[in-house]
Amino acid sequence: MTQTHRPADLPTAIRHYIDGRFVDSAGGETFDVLDPVSNETYVQAAAGQQADVDAAVAAARRAFAEGPWPRMLPRERSRVLHRIADLVESRDARLAELESFDSGLPITQALGQARRAAENFRFFADLIVAQADDTYKVPGRQINYVNRKPIGVAGLITPWNTPFMLESWKLAPAIATGNTVVLKPAEFTPLSASLWADIFEEAGLPQGVFNLVNGLGEEAGDALVKHPDVPLISFTGESSTGQLIFGNAAPYLKGLSMELGGKSPAVVFADADLDAAIDATIFGVFSLNGERCTAGSRILVERAVYDEFVERYAAQAKRVRVGYPHEKETEVGALVHPEHFEKVMSYVELGKTEGRLVAGGGRPEGFETGNFVAPTVFADVKPDARIFQEEIFGPVVAITPFDTEAEALELANGVKYGLAAYVWTNDLKRAHNFSQAVEAGMVWLNSNNVRDLRTPFGGVKASGLGHEGGYRSIDFYTDQQAVHITLGKVHNPTFGK
Ligand code: NAD
Repeated sequence: MTQTHRPADLPTAIRHYIDGRFVDSAGGETFDVLDPVSNETYVQAAAGQQADVDAAVAAARRAFAEGPWPRMLPRERSRVLHRIADLVESRDARLAELESFDSGLPITQALGQARRAAENFRFFADLIVAQADDTYKVPGRQINYVNRKPIGVAGLITPWNTPFMLESWKLAPAIATGNTVVLKPAEFTPLSASLWADIFEEAGLPQGVFNLVNGLGEEAGDALVKHPDVPLISFTGESSTGQLIFGNAAPYLKGLSMELGGKSPAVVFADADLDAAIDATIFGVFSLNGERCTAGSRILVERAVYDEFVERYAAQAKRVRVGYPHEKETEVGALVHPEHFEKVMSYVELGKTEGRLVAGGGRPEGFETGNFVAPTVFADVKPDARIFQEEIFGPVVAITPFDTEAEALELANGVKYGLAAYVWTNDLKRAHNFSQAVEAGMVWLNSNNVRDLRTPFGGVKASGLGHEGGYRSIDFYTDQQAVHITLGKVHNPTFGK
């Protein structure tokens, strides 16, 4: 018996949205979309090919060259963005229901992500009306000012974890700044992306500003990356895909923003508030099913409290509630897709040879089908273990002891990734010195992953290139043209006298 909760009024097909119209692929290609509880196909989605991407890019280019959007006053664009935020908020329950059904995310967490998506639009709506650009005075000689301009058609390629929210993270700044877009959402989870079209239409976004092409990465995604009329690609996904896209975009010298994978450390010193550290490190790796780029998936614990930490952590991990995604009590739902489930399970098996299993280790009891994995904890994991080095992207965590601060730093930095780090200590100097030395784009001190939207977002090393967040997103989606004005005497030699 399957426990799939099928939302009412599911679409009968998922289509592209090009130039203000829902359309099938020009050649009629489709792919299967499964729900992660039954693993049965519940709908077919249009599989975009070169011709579909060409049509979407042409529409976006037209809207950029001829349409009103890039030429509107920031306040007018801001009003549309606020209406988008209002609509997302007013539909948050429906959005969460569809997202949870399609991705396996627990319903309460999907609801939080829907609200965060609205907040992303509100934030950039406010930012563009407050935007000020620089002028530079050279007394008596020159004034120089920055003429900030939208760039053109932005290609947005997004992953399947928290899909709707991550799409909003790119859509909001891209269109706020006056660009037009083609979005290529992840093929595992295309359902929520199809809702943007109606929301944007209702909010009054002009035709052709937003275009959506569904499809596989190596087909639709690849065509977008290699399209000569798309000067910007904002990508979130795996580091290996990011490397491939970097190479493919190189001949076109595109602007690239890369938000990639992670294997973030949570470092717990003996003087930390252990209750808070345990709560945060449990949430940090098991929320969003562990399918979270900033998951604290390696926990480094000072030897003096190591045994106590492992014991308490394992006991609490066993109490984390695995359940059906639509149930309010569920804390860990179903992984997104059977392929991903197999990958995570293979790491669980590997972990049994690389560490000491203290919680989980397979399917949770009572869930014989569907992509369910019990929160799994390995202790005594060595730094050369694959479960220490590689991104698993599921509810699996490795715990490793350390003796000195220097060793903790070496362990924290000893992987190819550098997205986030979490530091737990009550020693003020150590807290700051360690945070500043750790190789991570973002550090949280004695706190969980709570992020103000003005702060930089992004990773170092294999976790990304470029930063988004606040004005950094505005910078990515705009050109800053310098205009130089002569006021008086400036260098002006006469050649050919
Ligand atoms: P993925 O790299 O497999 O796919 C991401 C997107 O890229 C999908 O839309 C896919 O269709 C597309 N794609 C795949 N191959 C392509 C190609 N050759 N050309 C163009 N597009 C292509 O990633 P995923 O499995 O969907 O997502 C999980 C990964 O995303 C994890 O590594 C996670 O850490 C990372 N992630 C990072 C952040 C961040 O902000 N740093 C946020 C969320 C997820």
